[in-house]
Amino acid sequence: MNTTRMPVLFVGHGSPMLALEDTEVTRGMAAIMNEVVERHGRPRAILAISVHWFTRGTFVQSAPKPRQIYDMYGFPPELYVLKYPVAGDAALTNAVQDLLGADVAVSDDWGIDHGSWSVLVHMVPETDIPVVQLSVDGTLDHGSVYRIGQRLAPLRDEGVLIMASGNIVHNLRRVDWEHPDGAVPATISFNDRIIKEVTARNDAAIIDFDRLPDAQFAAPTPDHFLPLVYTLGASEGKPVRVFNDVSTLGTISMTEFVFGDSAA
Ligand code: ZN
Repeated sequence: MNTTRMPVLFVGHGSPMLALEDTEVTRGMAAIMNEVVERHGRPRAILAISVHWFTRGTFVQSAPKPRQIYDMYGFPPELYVLKYPVAGDAALTNAVQDLLGADVAVSDDWGIDHGSWSVLVHMVPETDIPVVQLSVDGTLDHGSVYRIGQRLAPLRDEGVLIMASGNIVHNLRRVDWEHPDGAVPATISFNDRIIKEVTARNDAAIIDFDRLPDAQFAAPTPDHFLPLVYTLGASEGKPVRVFNDVSTLGTISMTEFVFGDSAA
């Protein structure tokens, strides 16, 4: 049994091709999960908050065996046969309902999407930790997103790893497929500013991220940034540690954070 509070993870996913890669980033994902398990025991379940389930209202999955969603287009065939067969977890679904009450509804219209599985194939390749996905509510103001995160925090004491998947910088219109490595200056400046505010736990600045310089470039739509706001709400206080601080394709940041005791 886990006797310690589980950390909270914010992970970047970027291109779905991540699922097939073996890079510094994917090895960093595997390493952070190994560290979580070493320090806290194996999570009983994962609450995966994926921006690719972007909804009006907040939804949580209840399927005993959620289906895998291949929600991307125009990628090589090997990506569409990659399997991440994982169980759901009724106790976690119920716990989320208890914590969020009327502010969440059960829905199995969706499944485990690439925001989750492209990361989980590296973090939990054994597929033996149940996964329940929670949607990102596109109708909430950012402060309300943060408060949903706060209300989910008690799950951490029940052996649940809260993991939200998005990107700090995600500008697909300006992406440069010819240059897989590196970042343009606005990507770097926005990403560095976010790292500075997150590590200082200046949560108010993150909630108001759209007022920061280069926000219109880095997050032309708020969707991929919002998972970070959930994780801040679920992880009040320090410590926090940055991992995988790299950018790809010019305008996608893969920077990730671990919040909680194992970050020290
Ligand atoms: Zn995405």
